[in-house]
Amino acid sequence: MGICPRATMPLLRDNFTGVLQHWARPEVLTCTSWAAPIIWDGTFDPQIAEQEARRQNLTIGLTVFAVGRYLEKYLEHFLDSAEQHFMVGQSVVYYVFTDRPEAVPYMTLGQGRVLRVERVQQENRWQDVSMARMRTLHEALGGQLGQEADYVFCLDVDQHFTSNFGPETLADLVAQLHAWHYHWPRWLLPYERDKRSAAALSFGEGDFYYHAALFGGSVAALRKLTAHCALGQQLDRERGVEAIWHDESHLNKFFWLYKPTKVLSPEFCWDLKIGWRTEIHTPRLLWEPKEYTLVRN
Ligand code: UDP
Ligand code: MN
Repeated sequence: MGICPRATMPLLRDNFTGVLQHWARPEVLTCTSWAAPIIWDGTFDPQIAEQEARRQNLTIGLTVFAVGRYLEKYLEHFLDSAEQHFMVGQSVVYYVFTDRPEAVPYMTLGQGRVLRVERVQQENRWQDVSMARMRTLHEALGGQLGQEADYVFCLDVDQHFTSNFGPETLADLVAQLHAWHYHWPRWLLPYERDKRSAAALSFGEGDFYYHAALFGGSVAALRKLTAHCALGQQLDRERGVEAIWHDESHLNKFFWLYKPTKVLSPEFCWDLKIGWRTEIHTPRLLWEPKEYTLVRN
């Protein structure tokens, strides 16, 4: 894991965060070893980000899959909360991928926000639904979604926004620190270790453990990410192996090979079950309680 000694901390800036105010959060890591910002609450000015996104006239995509029982259980709350907190004041296009388009709840959306529904097939196993997202996203990014959006976030549906999630999160390639693993030593991280899998990382490899419930970036970067992960999953299927955490294992392999240009602190995707942590100020997305017996095949 890379650390930036405070004395030599580079001035990190982009058009959305301005100069990263890493001194506002001296207790946490705010920079990767490859000099990408790790953004924490208080290290950026959300107003600068909002102005810059409007100046660039950006359209931001938000994709989510709601297949089988995940639709009734999570989708409405997810979308309602996104209307309250996700990229407020920007142009937003939601893409909902589901096996039952007719069951998607009717939503009144804010100005400049549209929702598109795309049909996908149900799979026999929940793991296959989760992994099939990479191929489907790849195709969508090569089609209408890729034409209308500048940046896209790809999210799990079993979570909801609780606070402002704005353009400060935008960058070419964005990864989310996994709430349960950001404290763990590298050798303990749950990467795929079986060398037969395309997702395998050996014990000296890996920077952080990233959460597949949230990743994002420019259309071009995400085309590459989804192609890489979908191909890895296909190679594994042909070899009769499956990575331990499915698409998340392949995502972690990708981010080891192609470093994210912005990393989101665990505040951006937090699980209340972890309990109280001093460094978690304002959670922006919260996991729903895991109720696998209700939603999984
Ligand atoms: N998903 C779905 N239907 C399924 C399985 C998965 O719609 O039967 C989608 C849904 O968006 C879900 C994501 O795939 O949030 C990942 O699955 P899950 O959240 O169950 O995985 P976990 O976060 O527990 O690893
Ligand atoms: Mn999930």
